[in-house]
Amino acid sequence: MIGVGVYCAVCMGAALAGQRNPNPLVEAGSKSFHWPKGKRAAVSLSFDDARTSQVDRGLVLLKKEGVRVTFFVNPEPVRKRLAGWKQAAADGHEIGNHSLTHPCTGNYPAFLQNALENYDLRMMAHELDEANDQIQKLLGVKPTTFAYPCGLKFVGRGLDVRSYVPLVAERFLVGRGYLDESPNNPAVCDLSQAMGTPFDDLDFTQMKKIVEDVVKEGTWVIFIGHEIGERHYQTTDINDLERLCDYLNDPANEIWLGTVQEIGGYIRKQDETNN
Ligand SMILES: [Zn+2]
Repeated sequence: MIGVGVYCAVCMGAALAGQRNPNPLVEAGSKSFHWPKGKRAAVSLSFDDARTSQVDRGLVLLKKEGVRVTFFVNPEPVRKRLAGWKQAAADGHEIGNHSLTHPCTGNYPAFLQNALENYDLRMMAHELDEANDQIQKLLGVKPTTFAYPCGLKFVGRGLDVRSYVPLVAERFLVGRGYLDESPNNPAVCDLSQAMGTPFDDLDFTQMKKIVEDVVKEGTWVIFIGHEIGERHYQTTDINDLERLCDYLNDPANEIWLGTVQEIGGYIRKQDETNN
């Protein structure tokens, strides 16, 4: 959930700005950045881990809504539902890279045997490149965007910790985080560390509130879900997702709903034009 925790960067920023302008960078940046004509903000829907419910339940709904999303996948679970994932690619959804084996901090018991604390940059480069090769062989598409497993961006421990953001930056258009407290300000964001906002466990009213704030600020939110189905832990509720798609599709709301690649590509182009 957003804003829950001992430290909240968004609340802190608002307090420091004296509520005058919760995000002064948007104001400063808005002079040089423009969304395409008729659009006030951007929204991407993304789903991680190649969970089977994404293709088993999600594809039919997304097709009915005419909505294309970004699936950040690992090769192994793709093999388990290969026909479904081929269908996802054929439907025009973006297939992004979520690493080969999903390394994460060993503090999560499930990742004790595959802990980032025991990785180095060479091992992480292999994770990225091998995943891209296998995804391309399985689905015939080469990912151009990446989602950091667990949103973590380091390898090693203590004095030997290194950021693997540069590895992502040299290989991908966008590297997306997780559990971040803010959407992306297109005028200043670093695409290799794009912020990601979970929408698992939220109802439509909560999702809509996030989108309304994004429209107010002219920013880009990348939503992140895991399972698609009935409301449950790490599950995006399929009925609330349908209502969100209807809302985002309504031209009156002037929202650009695009894949991470599409919107990231537009931001990079604007950035190049301005420099
Ligand atoms: Zn993941």
